[in-house]
Amino acid sequence: MAEFDVDLFVIGGGSGGVRAARIAAGHGARVMIAEEYRMGGTCVIRGCVPKKLFVIGSHVRHEIEDAAGFGWTIPSVSFDWATLIANKDKEIARLEAAYTTNVEKSGAQIVKSRAVIEDKHTVRLLADDKKITAKYILIATGGAPNHGAAIPGIEHVISSNEAFHLKKLPKRIVIQGGGYIALEFAGIFAGFGSDVTVIYRGDNILRGFDEDVRAHVRSEMEKQGITILTGCTVAKVDRHGDEFTTHLSNGSSVASDQVMFAIGRHPNVASLGLENAGVAINPKNGGIAVDHFSKSSVDSIYAIGDVTHRFNLTPVAIREGHAFADTVFGKREVQVDHANIPTAVFSQPEVGTVGLTETEARAQFSHVDIYKTTFRPIKATMSGRDTRVLMKLVVDGSTDRVLGCHIVGDCAAEVTQVVAIAVKMKATKADFDATIALHPTAAEELVTMRTPTARHVRQAAE
Ligand code: FAD
Ligand code: NDP
Repeated sequence: MAEFDVDLFVIGGGSGGVRAARIAAGHGARVMIAEEYRMGGTCVIRGCVPKKLFVIGSHVRHEIEDAAGFGWTIPSVSFDWATLIANKDKEIARLEAAYTTNVEKSGAQIVKSRAVIEDKHTVRLLADDKKITAKYILIATGGAPNHGAAIPGIEHVISSNEAFHLKKLPKRIVIQGGGYIALEFAGIFAGFGSDVTVIYRGDNILRGFDEDVRAHVRSEMEKQGITILTGCTVAKVDRHGDEFTTHLSNGSSVASDQVMFAIGRHPNVASLGLENAGVAINPKNGGIAVDHFSKSSVDSIYAIGDVTHRFNLTPVAIREGHAFADTVFGKREVQVDHANIPTAVFSQPEVGTVGLTETEARAQFSHVDIYKTTFRPIKATMSGRDTRVLMKLVVDGSTDRVLGCHIVGDCAAEVTQVVAIAVKMKATKADFDATIALHPTAAEELVTMRTPTARHVRQAAE
């Protein structure tokens, strides 16, 4: 009789957990995977996918507005929030079913239950209070929205989780946060017609992104009528029937029909029984501490994805889950290389970025060349829209290697995915220059910027 009930028990049926379960089962492991909510996890159920559907839907407003310059007369249009939500829910249900089927096809067994760790090799299923022993346990429980300090009226505030299920489109919405989710939802609500106010505590949105990107996105969003208030936080939220007054730390207030916080996410480590097995938390970020192979402080327990709070992105969770399964069950040690991960903020306009920002490059390299351009996209010449695209390459002046690429504009995410291959391959600026432009595109600027717009050379110490 086998020593354990299963070879692998995966806690969490999200992006990372599902990939690990499928690959491990493919390697011949006996796999069980527990999901307490819906198969697919954050990305599929209440993250990337429904968000992107909302972005696409809200962007239609821009298409309609831009149409007149091309000769179209579009009679009055209307938008129905309920239809959007119903169709989105249908698509998410389809994807959830596909995830379930794919896991089952791989041979892994799904259990719909919350799972809690009992010891180094045992998991308890809360749905039926059953214990399962496993040679290995993989924690892939993801993360959850932060609520911030317990300010008066915090119970009135929604997170992105609820934003996907609102009964009606708010006429006015206040969104606190200056990161991915705040800016993506600011664009979504503005596109559908809401009056949007973003509240951000620092001096400019998108901290950590290239400074030119931060300035450009803010100005483009403000041109679209989104109000961005910086240097303040939400101190109190009052409710009057269906309306809210958001009181800010600077003494001012904003009236709205909905208040949303998007102030980061924390790893789902609470009430997981980590202490029962001695699984250590990384004191730097509150996630599960892991080594390069995603192994925790306990030899039989691994952790991947958002619960480790490394790079909270779907493709990273998937890659980590795959690498774990190959390493532990595929007789092939695989470490995930976390360098040069491309990322996009699906704000409107989009941000696409890979590699080092100018600030990071200048801190690490003694000679940094910057190639930067902003230009009016061809569509705007006819639509009349007041908008500009930003493209920026950060280059190591000593080796000519392209260290970073930063784009703000339509299709920034799509272009960045492809540029990321070149950056990952350590392409030089000369390689970019040797590539013949594809005309007429916005991306051709990336291979036609000949002269540095700035050159930063650090003098060697005397
Ligand atoms: P998750 O996908 O969160 O899966 C964890 C699963 O574990 C959940 O289903 C949860 O219910 C389950 N679970 C938790 N505890 C237990 C337990 N004890 N027992 C059983 N089940 C449990 N990333 C991108 O790359 N691109 C994007 O455009 C993007 N957009 C996003 C938009 C939003 C609004 C949000 C919130 C996130 C977005 N992300 C995006 C981030 C992305 O969703 C996450 O990085 C990714 O889902 C992490 O995958 P994971 O497997 O680590 O965790
Ligand atoms: P982010 O880390 O992107 O942004 C959080 C924002 O909230 C920052 O502007 C931060 O300010 C601010 N903030 C943090 N704490 C407080 C506080 N106590 N009071 C006021 N403001 C605060 O997190 P998100 O919630 O937007 O998204 C979570 C993660 O999910 C992202 O980091 C990303 O990894 C992932 N994601 C990815 C997406 C994509 O790939 N397109 C889309 C959505 C999410 P400051 O900068 O000053 O710290």
